[in-house]
Order: sequence, then C-alpha cells, then structure tokens
Amino acid sequence: MELLIATHNLGKLREYQALLPNYQLVSLGEIGLGAFDVAETGSAFLDNAALKAVQYARASGRITLSDDSGLCVDALDGAPGVHSARYGGDGLDDAGRRAYLLAQMAHVPDAERTARFVCVIALHDPRTGQTYAVEGTCEGRILTAERGRGGFGYDALFVPDGYDLTYAEMPPQQKDAISHRGRAAQKLIPLLRDVL
Ligand code: IMP
Repeated sequence: MELLIATHNLGKLREYQALLPNYQLVSLGEIGLGAFDVAETGSAFLDNAALKAVQYARASGRITLSDDSGLCVDALDGAPGVHSARYGGDGLDDAGRRAYLLAQMAHVPDAERTARFVCVIALHDPRTGQTYAVEGTCEGRILTAERGRGGFGYDALFVPDGYDLTYAEMPPQQKDAISHRGRAAQKLIPLLRDVL
C-alpha cells in the first residue's frame, strides 16, 4: 500500500525514502498537492505533526505520514524548537538560519552548547479517522562553525553525543542509524505493519 509523505522539505523526503525502503512512498508533488500548505499553528511538535497528517490525509484521501521536527538548544531555552524552519525570519535559507543560530550563540561557552534534535512522526488513516504518533530524539552539541556539506538544515552545526562528526559529515546511512528521524522511524515501522 502507498504512503503519502506530507512534506515540502526535500531533505526529509530523501531520508524517508532510505528509512522506509519497504514502503511505496508518494510525495505531495506527485499527487498534485505540491502547492498545498498547512499552517503549523501548534506550540508542540506533536500538535503540528498531527495537524499536518490529518489535513494532508483529508486533502488526498491517503494514509499520510507527517514529520514535525526541529532543534532545541538548551542555552536558548529550547529555541528554535518548533520554529526551526523559520528561525531568524522568513527571508532566510538554511545557510542563513545556521548563521543566525551561530550569532545567537556567539557568547555561549563550549560546555553549555548542548542541544537535541526532536522528530515527531504522525500517521493518519482517513479510513478509520485514527492518528498515531511516535517520537525520536538525538542529544548532541552545537559547534562554533559549520563542518560538512551533506544533509540539510542545521546538520553542519550538530555533533551527536558519542561522535566527532557532524550530521553533515556523516554518510547518510550513519545519520539515519542514530538521528532523531531514524529513531522515530524505527518506532514507526511496527506501527505501519499494524495499520497498513
Ligand atoms: P518542519 O518540521 O517542517 O517544521 O521543519 C523542521 C526544521 O527543523 C527544518 O526545516 C530544519 O531547519 C530543522 N531540522 C529538522 N530535522 C533536521 C535534520 O535532520 N537536520 C537538520 N535540520 C533539521
């Protein structure tokens, strides 16, 4: 059975194609919903993930997976958190947001640069009206300068605990094995077996 991956973020889409190799994943663009946007009005990852899964499932009539994720920095009281995609304002791209984050943390000493990535995956089945959710996190720290060219978003600034490489320096399979999204996907797989 097909599964709609409700994201406009190509980085996330690529990761799900690797994380869920046994499922036939369909993107929003493939079913003509490339321009359909759902406002992320929730104040928690779970609220936004569920909101997106339900709205895109209703619009498409398909079993839909939605991912709300972000970076929570302790020295910034959990920011950018649910606002990770728009941190620093709408005019910035990924590189601009990384530069903005570095500027916000310019005076934070190494020992206090702890952070975590969080990913909540929501799955909505329009046949039953049921919504399911799983969460994955990855603890780490924020560097003082970028390292690596892979991945997307804040990858080049984040070193997971127990590693010396940033997410952006790791081969994709290594990031997938330990990342917030990879951990959430591992919890999702048994759920998908039940629902599908
Ligand atoms: P949203 O889930 O669409 O609200 O956006 C999540 C945002 O968090 C992305 O646009 C990235 O800026 C950031 N983010 C989430 N997951 C990752 C990741 O795996 N690597 C780097 N940045 C991420």
